[in-house]
Amino acid sequence: MKSKKEKTGECVYCGTVGPITVDHVPPRSFFPDPPPQDLITVPSCRKCNAGFSKDDDYVRLVLTVNEMASGNADRDQIMPTVMRFAKRKESKNVLASFYNSLTSGYHLNVQGIYVRGQRFTIDGARLDKFAQRVVKALFFREKGHGLQDGFIVNAIHQARLEGLERQLGEDKDFLYFILSKLIEDSDFKAWGEVFGYSWVQSPNGSERTWWLLDFYGTPYYLCSTCPEVEADVRSQ
Ligand SMILES: [Zn+2]
Repeated sequence: MKSKKEKTGECVYCGTVGPITVDHVPPRSFFPDPPPQDLITVPSCRKCNAGFSKDDDYVRLVLTVNEMASGNADRDQIMPTVMRFAKRKESKNVLASFYNSLTSGYHLNVQGIYVRGQRFTIDGARLDKFAQRVVKALFFREKGHGLQDGFIVNAIHQARLEGLERQLGEDKDFLYFILSKLIEDSDFKAWGEVFGYSWVQSPNGSERTWWLLDFYGTPYYLCSTCPEVEADVRSQ
């Protein structure tokens, strides 16, 4: 049944105009209780909103079990909830790609010491999709309108930065320039120890922007917005 209070508007993710819901970025489940009052909210259609919820649980698990996040106060506080969720039978489908990739053995930890433990392979496409959603919401927050048609979010996971440096060859100075702008010359906005971002505007067009996304104290994603036809960092 249609509620009388239902609002209509434009979804920041797919551009559909119609009934809208409120999407929180990052999701409230990423925070210990109670989540901050000033979380970013954006208009989202039901279809987009429903599509995100399964990914939220997967992404939260991947981000929090990462040893780079250990010692982060907010992460340590939500860890029991995350583990309870991960062990529930009902969660197995949502987290299938996590469980299917689990292996145990010895691996190098962040200190460079071989430790015995379980490891998993990240579903990169699923994590990238999450980062793209976050940037679309941040773009809306900063600019007051959604990303124009024909533009996309390019999401580069931190593990891929090294490969990107090699691929860029002599153009890699440009990458360093963008990173220094994001780290040194931009305001870093943060919500507890869970999430933070900084962004810079490209001089080559208002829809061309750069973003650095930080989760649980680790810079995770370098993202850009650019025309779909030139989804390559060199063209910006
Ligand atoms: Zn939508």
